[in-house]
Amino acid sequence: MSKTIGERIAQFVPTTLTFDEGLLGERDRQVLGKVVEAARLMDAIFLRQVSPRNPEWLARLESSQAAEDRDLLHYFRIMYGPWDRLEEHRPFVGQEAKPLGAGFYPPDLTNEEFEDWLVASREDEEAFRGFYTVITREGDGLSAVPYSRAYAEFLQPAAGLLEEAAEISDNPSLARFLFSRAEAFRTNDYFQSEMDWLDVEDSLIDVTFGPYEVYEDRLLGYKAAFEAFIGIRDPEASEQLETLIQYLPELERSLPGSDQYTVGTRGASSPISVIDEVFSAGDARAGVQAVAFLLPNDERVWQAKGSRKVMLRNVGEAKFRSCVVTVGARAISEAQVSLLAFDALYNIVLMHELAHGMGPSSITLPDGTQTTVSLALKELMSPLEEAKADLAGMCCLLSLIDDGVLSDLERSCVSYVVSEFASIRFGIDEAHGRAALLELNFLLERGGLAYDARSGRFQVDYDRMLDAIQDLTRRVLGLQARGDYEGVKLLLDTYGILTPPLEAAISAMSDLPVDIEPLFPIEEMMESW
Ligand code: ZN
Repeated sequence: MSKTIGERIAQFVPTTLTFDEGLLGERDRQVLGKVVEAARLMDAIFLRQVSPRNPEWLARLESSQAAEDRDLLHYFRIMYGPWDRLEEHRPFVGQEAKPLGAGFYPPDLTNEEFEDWLVASREDEEAFRGFYTVITREGDGLSAVPYSRAYAEFLQPAAGLLEEAAEISDNPSLARFLFSRAEAFRTNDYFQSEMDWLDVEDSLIDVTFGPYEVYEDRLLGYKAAFEAFIGIRDPEASEQLETLIQYLPELERSLPGSDQYTVGTRGASSPISVIDEVFSAGDARAGVQAVAFLLPNDERVWQAKGSRKVMLRNVGEAKFRSCVVTVGARAISEAQVSLLAFDALYNIVLMHELAHGMGPSSITLPDGTQTTVSLALKELMSPLEEAKADLAGMCCLLSLIDDGVLSDLERSCVSYVVSEFASIRFGIDEAHGRAALLELNFLLERGGLAYDARSGRFQVDYDRMLDAIQDLTRRVLGLQARGDYEGVKLLLDTYGILTPPLEAAISAMSDLPVDIEPLFPIEEMMESW
């Protein structure tokens, strides 16, 4: 049965994301003020990227006095449109289906028509497949309109605000990025600004701002959605992580199954920062909130300079307080539930992110073909990759605990299990959810996790859990190293499914919140600055 609008809203707990305002000097406030103002324009663009009809629908809800419409408006703002991101984008207002290509393509455009056009017009290839164009119909044909033109109404003033912020900033590397990003908004050439973003150093204010992720484009996965993450950097916590990163090559070499591929240093090349989020907008704010990200996505930038990881600490804390704790209280045995801890979970998320940089990437298939893991595993890559990050991340965490660098095995194991239950709540068709099913079912089979049908709760057996994690890590890395599509399919069909204990657990949690609705105190603070 479909949820009422009240039930949908209740899935997101309004949670204030706090940060230490005392860290900000006068100049910092001015810079932040400008950047936040510019970020609101990213909201306006993203809304149109989701659907060009969004502004019209939004205006109708905003002008209505009906109580039901106020609730619909609330949820529309969370989802950035009339489609529910927790229910495969099915509509919760009206009946209209969401086009796979969102607002990036003509709504009736098919994959075939797009490809046929490019066969006939080879010179369009780059513009059509690029991150930064909108595809429109023009006469009988198709045309690629650069973002700089399609969204000029918002990008022009955003560029102006970023330049004003750059003039005020006393950090030259941040100023350089803000200037070059403003330039990119006008020219549609983002390369230099992506490079400059990786060079930002020692800045208290952390700004990630522009078109980045391509998930909103479910038709072809080409088009980048506008977003902003604005935060305050914690230099001490960031430095602690930098020390942890030194261990990565050694940690990867000691992973079970690392003898099946050539261990590289992919993860070690990307610096990492810890920030408290002060404001987010656009794609970053829609639906479920990220607790970490790794950018940019442009392969050319990766090759030239690498990438950067950012941990959003206060977002993680807020989700823990508002959602994860409630999942733990329902899923874990009374004897172990008190072991669920934010510090442990934070390390688990961190190691997950770092473990994405481990494992095979370029591989040779048994028939001698050179390829990459993701090309070989196709649509099964995402869930397997998330499982790899969870499992290899746990192996690294456990060995750091073994070496005394980090502490608390029991808290880590219990918190890991709870985080997997929390992942299932984002949807079992989604990559993280499917990976969580795989891991939990494997642990259940190996006795690392025991289910008590009477209480409906789970209990960890530490020794068996450690063995099971090691074993599954070895299998997953082996499947990636061999590019074994059939093997991955078999593994996911066997374990990545709803088994009776997990089905019972999910239905027992159905009334619990799924995520937070972030509230940003800076919006009020700015009024008094
Ligand atoms: Zn991941």
